Amino acid sequence: MAEFTMELNDEQKEVRDWLHGFAADVIRPAAAEWDEREETPWPVIQEAAKVGIYSLDFYAQQYFDPTGLGIPMAMEELFWGDAGIALSIVGTGLAAVGVLANGTEEQIGTWIPQMYGDANDVKVAAFCSSEPDAGSDVASMRTRAVYDEAKDEWVLNGTKTWATNGGIANVHVVVAVVDTELGSKGHASFIVPPGTPGLAQGQKFKKHGIRASHTAEVILDNVRVPGSCLLGGKEKLDERLARAREKAKQGGERVKNAAMATFEASRPAVGAMAVGTARAAYEVALDYAKTREQFGRPIIDNQGVAFQLADMRTSIDAARLLVWRASWMAVNGRPFTAAEGSMSKLFASETAKKVTGQAIQILGGNGYTREYPVERMHRDAAIYTIFEGTSEIQRLVIARTLAGVPIR
Ligand SMILES: Cc1cc2nc3c(=O)[nH]c(=O)nc-3n(C[C@H](O)[C@H](O)[C@H](O)COP(=O)(O)OP(=O)(O)OC[C@H]3O[C@@H](n4cnc5c(N)ncnc54)[C@H](O)[C@@H]3O)c2cc1C
Repeated sequence: MAEFTMELNDEQKEVRDWLHGFAADVIRPAAAEWDEREETPWPVIQEAAKVGIYSLDFYAQQYFDPTGLGIPMAMEELFWGDAGIALSIVGTGLAAVGVLANGTEEQIGTWIPQMYGDANDVKVAAFCSSEPDAGSDVASMRTRAVYDEAKDEWVLNGTKTWATNGGIANVHVVVAVVDTELGSKGHASFIVPPGTPGLAQGQKFKKHGIRASHTAEVILDNVRVPGSCLLGGKEKLDERLARAREKAKQGGERVKNAAMATFEASRPAVGAMAVGTARAAYEVALDYAKTREQFGRPIIDNQGVAFQLADMRTSIDAARLLVWRASWMAVNGRPFTAAEGSMSKLFASETAKKVTGQAIQILGGNGYTREYPVERMHRDAAIYTIFEGTSEIQRLVIARTLAGVPIR
């Protein structure tokens, strides 16, 4: 286990500075344009692929950093550049984590490279769990996966919504119901390979923020995938379902479902994205407050402004520490006895929403225009309290964990 320290090591600092350079030189200058275009910034993703930021190797390296800080550090820097573009760069990672968390070695080796493509032909991937009637309440999912034993194929039917990269992805990871009696314990995850008939993009959403990131419905109409596309394999699924049925009979301890495993692994990373956006807005506000003069002096000379900046910075640093703690716990296999992952996501996302709003206030009229980036950052920040579990759901998870009540 890595020794505890509050400092990044030399290698981490080097990676952080390299990512910061990419965020400052490539992502930030493109942010306003792609926000207006509301399209996937393929050229920027390609740039990221060329320098090695958009690749499995890069994420694996950060993921396996023994301190746990590799992923949060990377997320903070990229999202500091711009949230919409950064989500287009890291969105594939959510699907990849779904495969890493539940897939066999062979599935990981086969599908993750196809999620990213290569620098000459970049691809993206989508993780499809949410449905029109199953957002926070994952257990009410309706998309069905039925096994066709004669052909060793699974047949998927249903409608997914809010899928980042949905419909434009090369590989879709779809969570579906395999046993209707078991609620969220009867779910399993499937790979839908490129070009599979029956999968189509539905509505593409026009959003408040992170507009460079593609979000759409995914329609599954008799989508047939080979048995090998069930993540983890049939034997493991049958064992898991048998255990869940047994526990349901005894009314005992609940088992984790596939989607929940993915969310738990990714929540501190979402917290880190929020820290990146909050820090970006804070820095713009700090510079502005030092240079904007009213009543014959810089506005930062007023306590009313300086105290806001003090609170902003304090909250951002506190959020980062919660994120780092949860990431360290995850990588070192520490049990989340107080739902520390959810805590980090809750605090960081609420901080990002608040801090970006304060930044607008400090910039006055300019803050309210698209001439300055803080209004975009404020629109972007609103997503962090919604996706990967809303703030209310994080509180529910924390409260139930503290109370010792099962989380369904
Ligand atoms: C831009 C974007 C990208 C997304 N990307 C993905 C993706 O890639 N893959 C994917 O599967 N999903 C994705 N999502 C879906 C996201 O995870 C859901 O939107 C989120 O989980 C909330 O579900 P919902 O929108 O149905 O809201 P609802 O669940 O309907 O919630 C509405 C409100 O009710 C509150 N609420 C609900 N239940 C409770 C409760 N028990 N107690 C207190 N309050 C409650 C919620 O907190 C919220 O405020 C994305 C969403 C967006 C907007």
